[in-house]
Amino acid sequence: MSESATVRARAEIDLAALRDNVRALRARAPRAAFMAVVKADGYGHGMVPVARAALDAGATWLGTAMPEEALALRAAGIGPDRARVLCWLWAPGGPWREGVEAGLDMSVSGSRALREAVAAARGAGLPARIQLKADTGLGRGGCQPADWPALVGEALAAEGEGLVRVTGLWSHLACADEPGHPSIAPQLARFRDMVRYAEQRGARPEVRHIANSPATLALPESHFDLVRPGIAMYGISPSPELGTPADFGLRPVMRLSASMVLVKRVPGGHGVSYGHTYVTPGATTLGLVPLGYGDGIPRHASGSGPVLVDGKWRTIAGRVAMDQFVVDLGGDEPPEGTQAVLFGPGDLGEPTAEDWAQAAGTIAYEIVTRIGARVPRVHLHERS
Ligand SMILES: *Cc1c(COP(=O)(O)O)cnc(C)c1O
Repeated sequence: MSESATVRARAEIDLAALRDNVRALRARAPRAAFMAVVKADGYGHGMVPVARAALDAGATWLGTAMPEEALALRAAGIGPDRARVLCWLWAPGGPWREGVEAGLDMSVSGSRALREAVAAARGAGLPARIQLKADTGLGRGGCQPADWPALVGEALAAEGEGLVRVTGLWSHLACADEPGHPSIAPQLARFRDMVRYAEQRGARPEVRHIANSPATLALPESHFDLVRPGIAMYGISPSPELGTPADFGLRPVMRLSASMVLVKRVPGGHGVSYGHTYVTPGATTLGLVPLGYGDGIPRHASGSGPVLVDGKWRTIAGRVAMDQFVVDLGGDEPPEGTQAVLFGPGDLGEPTAEDWAQAAGTIAYEIVTRIGARVPRVHLHERS
């Protein structure tokens, strides 16, 4: 990471907060194993440092979407003795053989994927660790109830031949972030039915699991053998309706700031940034912040994104551009180089990722995850 990039902008990642969040979540699901979900570069926080910190705080499983992410964890030295790694989004022709050899747990939602896992196991001369995923109502990945008997039958036959080991039965909830949503109870009931069916046919899974962050926080009956929190581990509430991070003893992990590269006086009636959607109401000062949509700052936050400068909340003036945006400093003249804090834990008066989500009409998951590769991640408190 170059020094100049660090000076322009940085995303500080507080790994001590992340470890505390893992412990707080584990305390809510004391009988379940903990899978730290680190897909999408650890929701933008840096996958490998996040994975190591989560393991230090008691996680025993890691979860990724793509097999390439899971293989990168193994390549970083996180071996099967240190963590089980489940990955769940396999394209046809994916790296099944590498997955078998790396001891990954590979999710299977249908016969095509199962055939690829079996072929990889034959090639590697090792059983493939597979987890059968049930579509209990999400309507995304997973095997439909009508197709479950066939998939379970094929998987157990392959297990009988020593080609696979069915290590898990699992599913995913659609509306766990809306307490009392009418889809929740039927999804849990269907999951129990599909697990019971597989076990009656002879499946002996190591883990049965369905709980994401909101379910880990608010739905104890969903914890089963393992919970899979993502966003809550990063200190962000899965939804404002469920509660604030502090309500759950969680603390946001990412703090995004940039150094103001220009502060200047402008007269009243001056248009600001592309399209002149903002016009200065009177003589004022403008500050230029060197972060734009090329860094993951949502263009939808044009005219609304909040920034803390010199103890005051300012709002993005005009459009977010690819590399930069402007704030109206209302006549203040902080020196160039002053920090503009876009979001952080909030306890120093700065906005939070949730504030940005509201400003941009999205969810906080997207705010942190989309912070781009051009913004250096600075990992703090790497050692516990
Ligand atoms: C992303 C993901 C999770 C984690 O979800 P959060 O809402 O961030 O806790 C868990 N399970 C699956 C299958 C996922 O894709």
